[in-house]
Amino acid sequence: MSSKTKITVAYGDGIGPEIMEATLKILEAAGAQLEYDVIEIGEQVYLKGISSGMEPQAFESLKETKVFLKAPITTPQGGGFKSLNVTTRTSFGLFANVRPCKAYSPYIKTHYPETDLVIIRENEEDLYAGIEHRQTQEVVQSLKLISKPGSEKIIRYAFEYARKYGRKKVTCMTKDNIMKLADGLFHKTFDAVAKEYPDIQTDHKIIDIGSALIAERPQTFDVIVTLNLYGDIISDIAAQVTGSVGLGGSANVGEEVAMFEAIHGSAPDIAGMDMANPSGLLNGAISMLVHIGQPAVAEKVANAWMRTLEDGIHTGDIYQEGKSKEKVGTQAFAQAVIERIGQKPINMKPAVFDKSSTDPISIKLSPAVKAEKKLIGVDVFVDWDEDRRDPNALGDALRKADADGLVLQLITNRGIKVYPGGMKETFCTDHWRCRFQKSDQSPVTHSQILDLMNQVAGLGFDFIKSENLYSFDGVRAYSLSQGE
Ligand code: NAD
Repeated sequence: MSSKTKITVAYGDGIGPEIMEATLKILEAAGAQLEYDVIEIGEQVYLKGISSGMEPQAFESLKETKVFLKAPITTPQGGGFKSLNVTTRTSFGLFANVRPCKAYSPYIKTHYPETDLVIIRENEEDLYAGIEHRQTQEVVQSLKLISKPGSEKIIRYAFEYARKYGRKKVTCMTKDNIMKLADGLFHKTFDAVAKEYPDIQTDHKIIDIGSALIAERPQTFDVIVTLNLYGDIISDIAAQVTGSVGLGGSANVGEEVAMFEAIHGSAPDIAGMDMANPSGLLNGAISMLVHIGQPAVAEKVANAWMRTLEDGIHTGDIYQEGKSKEKVGTQAFAQAVIERIGQKPINMKPAVFDKSSTDPISIKLSPAVKAEKKLIGVDVFVDWDEDRRDPNALGDALRKADADGLVLQLITNRGIKVYPGGMKETFCTDHWRCRFQKSDQSPVTHSQILDLMNQVAGLGFDFIKSENLYSFDGVRAYSLSQGE
């Protein structure tokens, strides 16, 4: 018998303890070789005043075991609490969030019985960095940060995943028709990496039509790779259309540590009532067994679980009058799965996890190529609410600032050009972007920018931030404003 693998386990909040108990019972009955380091996370920890929801010893446990089976937690209402999921993902470099969404028709009701897709969501970047600032009376900002290595890592992971699991197509989803630099970087990286995988079909969809197609034709997708926020949203759409919010499991995978969980939350409305479906966490646990090199146990659990569904033993959330045979509670469902260990589904395709499934997906990034970076101007943002917000008054005043030819070229408000030659109909807030460049766009220096900022302050303006304007290898590296 192989030696036991130590994993970190958190029972979580709400239905967490019930579904974790059910899941561990099934894993033990199937012969999983596990040892548990149980940690406390979630509501009680938040309420002790620990804003991450995790005590330092929980981090230590994860550093040691590198494998985390986590039940859902309740995030207390009110400000100041950081998302435990986001903290765990970013602290431990869990860059890939893998969410399979599969229909189990006719045993579980869905309009799309052919659905079998996997969403691979970037897990560390994008708006989830949570870098937010209030800058004026009226305007707050949230920074969206996208990196080349972050994009390349998740895109390569998606292609490697497709290859490893025999999937045929990878679809990239972005909004690069609007966010040409940020989402454009992700899309361009996708196109470049795709060339190395000629055996896999590729496709790109703008996220809005992509989401609509997931809702209406989910069976046309295979593997989807996308940025953090879009991935969060489409995973729930995909889970919902397969009729399986209570069934989906997810894996958060990094180079060293991995976290496995259900996709749903702590369901406080049914907590303690023995009504919750433990299948989501169980599916997360099946991926975990494969990850830690126990594929035979994973296969046994997956097949016994599918057989239970086929036999019509269903928890309330998936029970169908006239089709299901027996409505059971959480623990009775677990018992039914345990009784079927060693059996396989009769109509659905049995799960097969062999030794090769356990090979880790390793990612090698392409060498960084340094481009020539030139500073060619600056956007100075000002908080200004005078002269009935007439952009001409602001523009005429800022024209007086001149740092060796670094002068005002244009002003925008919420991205729309309002000076010179703006339209009086354009609605303006108190947040103005003022673009300063030399008229021939020749390079500028940091000291010219500092001189300019001093002049802007000296003219009585409250500048709230600045963004340098660069070119890389001679290519403009900032967006033009609408109307520029
Ligand atoms: P939820 O997923 O907990 O519940 C939504 C609905 O689905 C509820 O009606 C619930 O009863 C039902 N449901 C969920 N899981 C089920 C299961 N296994 N079996 C049967 N029915 C199930 O979402 P919510 O109500 O928006 O959030 C509740 C709490 O969970 C919040 O505090 C939220 O922050 C937290 N949450 C945690 C995680 C996580 O820890 N990964 C994820 C999402 C939400």
